[in-house]
Amino acid sequence: MDFNPVILSIPLYFLLIGLELIHQAVTKVKSYRTNDAITNISCGITSQITNALWGVMSVAMYQYVYQYWSVAEIQVNWWTNIALFILVDFFYYWFHRASHEINFLWNTAHVVHHQSEDYNLSVALRQTSFGGVFSMLFYLPLAFMGFNTLSFLAVKGINLIYQFWIHTEAINKLPKWFEAIFNTPSHHRVHHGRNPKYIDRNHAGTLIVWDKMFGTFQPEEEKPTYGVTKPTNTWNPVWANVLPIVDMSKQVWSTPGIMNKLKVLFYKPGWRPMEQGGYQAAPNVDKSTYVKYDEQPNLSLVKYLLGQFLVVLLVTSLFLFTQASYAWTQKLFLAGFITWSVMQLGLLLENRRSWILLEYVRIFATAIVLNFMLPASISLEVSIASTLVFVPWFFIAKRK
Ligand SMILES: [Zn+2]
Ligand SMILES: [Zn+2]
Repeated sequence: MDFNPVILSIPLYFLLIGLELIHQAVTKVKSYRTNDAITNISCGITSQITNALWGVMSVAMYQYVYQYWSVAEIQVNWWTNIALFILVDFFYYWFHRASHEINFLWNTAHVVHHQSEDYNLSVALRQTSFGGVFSMLFYLPLAFMGFNTLSFLAVKGINLIYQFWIHTEAINKLPKWFEAIFNTPSHHRVHHGRNPKYIDRNHAGTLIVWDKMFGTFQPEEEKPTYGVTKPTNTWNPVWANVLPIVDMSKQVWSTPGIMNKLKVLFYKPGWRPMEQGGYQAAPNVDKSTYVKYDEQPNLSLVKYLLGQFLVVLLVTSLFLFTQASYAWTQKLFLAGFITWSVMQLGLLLENRRSWILLEYVRIFATAIVLNFMLPASISLEVSIASTLVFVPWFFIAKRK
């Protein structure tokens, strides 16, 4: 099953990010920071990479239920597709709501998407690496009903693509009728707010009507402060995925009693037994003292890292578009290289200078990977050129 609308739309994502950057340049309203945006897209990369490796599992689960347990065979036509779209959106609402209200799901399947303290289109790409299998459990009723796997994947993909454009501050409010029915940038800004009144509101995918129906709707009033209540403070996408799980495990460990431990996992985030002070509500945000995490090295190293990031993006896109043609060992090798790359670029963005030496190794590894992935007619030239450009560039950039 190579048809994946989410991957096919990659050029569209970058086109729209380009337009948003032009909008930022024209209006002078800053919504992007290089370090944050690189980390967001890096989390999208690790998410797609892990998905390429075990996304197959969750699709197989759907296919199994559809093939052996479905109660009917639903014909594919325009009105069953519309019904499927509405049902997918309905189950998305419940998965998304559960992944906010159940601590285990929050930390394993969703928190990464909320860690950015900015709000722009790159945040839409910031996704968890571990969520796929859990989310699929919520869609299995559709397989029981008899919606075939390919239709489900296509509609699910379109639903996800819809959610891309709402991650922007460039659009304020849309016409009233549209805001009343659909999820919009305004509704979703609320969802990304860490202000107590915005937390766990507006879980909708495409249709905001679910939130209105089930009592989780909150209109946008003051501008939200974005991010999670305990900021992650890292540009390393691997750590961004792992840290919440480490924190949750520590909390389980330090909570007395097996029932209490289970409650830490399956009750709302912030739940604590009475002897540990009871439920910890989200703290208020004081905008006058709030400072975003903004670690970065000197400007020339940032520029170098941005250049390298574009190469990693190229390698990732090649990998995602051609993954079906690789053997499992090749897939694992490429996935390992890409993960190492985004992790290392993140660590250098955090100005961790002990990683400098390893970057030279990575530049040579990049040349080998490009030589392997690109068409034979240009592969050698491109890999030699990339080494000749990046070694001196890094040598000069890191000194300042
Ligand atoms: Zn969410
Ligand atoms: Zn979002």
